[in-house]
Amino acid sequence: MNELDRIMEIIEAAGFSHTGKISMDTVELRDEVRDMCRNGNCGKYDRNWSCPPGCGTLDQCRQQLLSYKTGILVQTVGEIEDSMDWEGMKDTEERHKKTFLETAEKLRKIAPGFLPLGAGTCTLCRECTYPDSPCRQPERRISSMEAYGILVSDICSGNQVKYYYGPKTIAYTSCYFFDFSS
Ligand code: SF4
Repeated sequence: MNELDRIMEIIEAAGFSHTGKISMDTVELRDEVRDMCRNGNCGKYDRNWSCPPGCGTLDQCRQQLLSYKTGILVQTVGEIEDSMDWEGMKDTEERHKKTFLETAEKLRKIAPGFLPLGAGTCTLCRECTYPDSPCRQPERRISSMEAYGILVSDICSGNQVKYYYGPKTIAYTSCYFFDFSS
């Protein structure tokens, strides 16, 4: 079994709703996505080492991604009562983040140089040290796909993974990048 097979085995066993391989030529880092961060859509801009500007410029993110040859999308889809069901959304988000982080820890053991990009800001510490002191866990810190300028709907459609699963559903998407191919 090669490294990628072992990785796929771990990811497939994790319990995500859907997974899909990313073709690296569909990974586009866009300034407009960074602009959405800057405009304060989630309120974490300039407040966490995993978010811009703390996570580096878009050019630095691009350079970093050049060394990766394989990517895997992972998704958790949950059911909600309606578009105001914040509790249902939060439950699905927490389930997704837990599975994503637990899987990242397993993957780190066999692919230490991998890059996990999650959904939302880094929540590894109760309070982020930004900007007063260095990140407490730089090797484990997880940026969001948006922080790297990736438009989630685009990368999903470019790799035949659905982004929207219909009314009364919510989907959270993240990914892992690896520096080797099959
Ligand atoms: S690991 Fe801690 S200090 Fe570093 S970005 Fe995450 S929350 Fe902030």
